[in-house]
Amino acid sequence: MNDIQYKTQDNIVSHKNKILIVDDSAVNRTALRKILENDYELIEAPNGLHAWEILRKYKTDISVVLLDLVMPVMDGYTFLEYVQVDPIMSMVPIIVMTSNDSVDEEIRCLSFGASDFVPKPYHPAIVKHRIKNLIHLRETSAILNLLEHDHLTGVYSKEFFYQYAQKILTDYPEKRFNIICCDVENFKLVNERFGMEKGDELLCYLADKYQELLGNSGFCARINADIFAMLIEVNEENQLETLYNAFQREKLFSAPVPNLVVKWGVYEIVDRTVPVSRMCDRAILAIKKIKHQYKQNVAWYDDTLRLEMLKEQQVLDNMEAALEEKQFKIYLQPKYDVQTNKIVGAEALVRWIHPEKGMISPGEFIPLFEQTGFISSLDYYVWEETCHLLAIWRDSGLPLIPISVNVSRANFELGDLEEKLVNLLERYQLLPEWLHLEITESAYTENPEKIINTVEALRKFGFKIEMDDFGSGYSSLNMLSELPIDVLKLDMRFMQHENKFENKKSILGFIVSLSKWLELDTVAEGVETKEQIDLLRNMGCDYVQGYYYARPMPTKEFESYLVNEKLSQGKEERLFVCDLAADEQEKRTVLVVEDLPETRKALQETLSPYYNLIISDNGRDAYSYLQKNEANVSIILMDLFMAVMDGFQILELCKNRDAEESIPIIMSSTAGNKDELQAIQLGASHFLTKPYKKETLLYHIQHVLEDADLRRKAFKEGIS
Ligand code: C2E
Ligand code: CA
Ligand code: CA
Repeated sequence: MNDIQYKTQDNIVSHKNKILIVDDSAVNRTALRKILENDYELIEAPNGLHAWEILRKYKTDISVVLLDLVMPVMDGYTFLEYVQVDPIMSMVPIIVMTSNDSVDEEIRCLSFGASDFVPKPYHPAIVKHRIKNLIHLRETSAILNLLEHDHLTGVYSKEFFYQYAQKILTDYPEKRFNIICCDVENFKLVNERFGMEKGDELLCYLADKYQELLGNSGFCARINADIFAMLIEVNEENQLETLYNAFQREKLFSAPVPNLVVKWGVYEIVDRTVPVSRMCDRAILAIKKIKHQYKQNVAWYDDTLRLEMLKEQQVLDNMEAALEEKQFKIYLQPKYDVQTNKIVGAEALVRWIHPEKGMISPGEFIPLFEQTGFISSLDYYVWEETCHLLAIWRDSGLPLIPISVNVSRANFELGDLEEKLVNLLERYQLLPEWLHLEITESAYTENPEKIINTVEALRKFGFKIEMDDFGSGYSSLNMLSELPIDVLKLDMRFMQHENKFENKKSILGFIVSLSKWLELDTVAEGVETKEQIDLLRNMGCDYVQGYYYARPMPTKEFESYLVNEKLSQGKEERLFVCDLAADEQEKRTVLVVEDLPETRKALQETLSPYYNLIISDNGRDAYSYLQKNEANVSIILMDLFMAVMDGFQILELCKNRDAEESIPIIMSSTAGNKDELQAIQLGASHFLTKPYKKETLLYHIQHVLEDADLRRKAFKEGIS
């Protein structure tokens, strides 16, 4: 770009004002030099053309031009004409010096744009005085100064940039231009770490470098804080990527602050009726989209971006009212035991059901809520709704499964997380293990101490803690073994890329075994195909969640899904009904609840000659069977420790039933006294230490049954 010349700010800190003397006579130039050299920095030109080139270079850095009219090559009038058409050069005051002191001549010169007129021969005092006045006028014309330059860096001010860019766009309709806004990543941190002074130094440095980079291709301004804007002509030499790379690599190399990253947002100017201020806003919007994104340093603005931003603003404007009006609904997605294909839990995932727009998925609002902190209000709402739901399930006798809720990291900042959660449990009379808390892995690494302490307390209280999106953060193995967690939930990307990268399989395998080694349960998320299920099953993964089994669904739908699923599975696989032949109807029925297959088998062999058996491999199924078929069961023999609802939980659930009427329960475990005491306190009728001995087992069952019969009889006689 050689035919447009932009005003730049070289030597803004020069102490003396510069004066350009244009005269073909060396004698005249020397005479002027003598008068002025003590007070000013002087530049000389022997003709109009030469002067024009100098002015083009220095622009408003020249304070005054002293111009002779009659010169070879280019005379004074032509010079005036040239300067007049340039918006920036025309701002430099010109004093015409001529020996023709007629009024006509003076008028002519002034009409050509000269600021003043001094007849030759020079009277030194007059010349000095006129120059001083002009400079003073210019420097005290506050508007001009304020408008034109940024006080700190000396580049153009925002207002001036807007006006000047607009003018250039109008004057050169045939040329193509971009607006580029530049933003220093984490500039605030620079100020915090190195101090304001260093921050200012950096800004001046940047201003310099932007100008250097632009050269003759455009001009720049400071828009605010650390944001600079450039108007740059589009041509082959100015390929944006090349320009950016040159800037980041070469220009920032010697910056006063190390490791700077500058992001560029680019607005391609198509419609010149858009105000330049708005063009800049849009270029800045483009930067926002790549903020903190590693290796994404240049972003182009397009209209979809604007619409996206508008949408985001609408979300922010509406969120509070939406929460109040309960527009947020909980969807539930089941988690399955991959070995048995049974539902073992669910995750609560929020949906925004907007009265006009319909369903909005969390991807569209959760990140925004996280930015504004509103997420903690939404999270609390979700927890409360979840507790409410669990309470309804409990009261209406629906099978209970634990529900996981997401706990965003913002909740840890507030310091009252435990209190909030515990209060919710109390209010809805729930056991903490019904509520699993999903905390994303990256939260642990960001503020480890604070989070770990809180999570530890929550876990002590009885909440089950799941580490969400495991694999996306940077927790070390060391750290992992010390974190207070119960479940590792593998990041969905392990599944999604599993086919693309062969070695992901072995990574997946490694993580599953790592999780086992740490004695954590493993949940794989985002499972969509049968192949993935098989793979995970073979690796020994415990649970899966994904579209293969079910998508997140409204709670009502989930409830019927749960019941159907449970019933069908209960019949087919889970409850083994033994020895119910017609001729043996007289036998009493023992409900055996035991998760170890070998022990189940042994019990079946020992007991089936004498009893009808209902066998379940987990507490939850046994409990839901009991709720419907209590009358069939004479006695329960139950293991204390099972993966899916353990014996303590069942005792807890049975606790409030009428003691005299209730079915006797024999609990067992491999440990001794401590478990026994707790089991008895919770209402077990008897306790056995494993492994079972055939004879004692039969004896105790018989004994407990007789005892219960006697109590029941006494109770009935007592009332009649
Ligand atoms: P997340 O916690 O990792 O949740 C899992 C996401 O994966 C859900 O997306 C779920 O619908 C989706 N998903 C489940 N199975 C599959 C599958 O087989 N394939 C694929 N492609 N996706 C699957 P959703 O519901 O859109 O939620 C997105 C994220 O929004 C969640 O990721 C979570 O980080 C956040 N979120 C959702 N609800 C809440 C909430 O109540 N509070 C907080 N703090 N965050 C929430
Ligand atoms: Ca989650
Ligand atoms: Ca997840």
